[in-house]
Amino acid sequence: MSGHGQLVEALRGTGYRLTPQRLMILGIVHDNEGHITAEKVHEKVREQYPYVDISTVYRTLQLLKRLRVVTETDLGGGSVEYELTANRPHHHLVCHNCSKTIRLDDGFVQPLRDRLREDYGFEADMDHFAMFGICKDCREQAAASQ
Ligand SMILES: [Zn+2]
Ligand SMILES: [Zn+2]
Repeated sequence: MSGHGQLVEALRGTGYRLTPQRLMILGIVHDNEGHITAEKVHEKVREQYPYVDISTVYRTLQLLKRLRVVTETDLGGGSVEYELTANRPHHHLVCHNCSKTIRLDDGFVQPLRDRLREDYGFEADMDHFAMFGICKDCREQAAASQ
């Protein structure tokens, strides 16, 4: 589904209007391959609407996040990153030594999500999350230098 169709669908019945700015911000996240920070979204918005301030971008991203159209994840880079929820569900392993990120298939997370629902009746928001640790290369390097 295109970003546009998805947003129209998500906004239906919420009382929020589909403004050109909201649509544009969604379009930027949509056209971006992978993750994007609010600062980067703001830069791109300003190419067309120089008067839009970053708080508008933040507010819109928060709205899109509440509607679960985009995900917001701290990947350890100092600012949170946004990505379209409709992208194939996935997660990230982030090395806190070299900052490398490894894509994690949602198949790893689905059993956990199911167990949480069964055992706790808890519906976890695990659309896109980052798990921090040490990557294979860094572990091997550390082992070799001992
Ligand atoms: Zn991602
Ligand atoms: Zn590493």
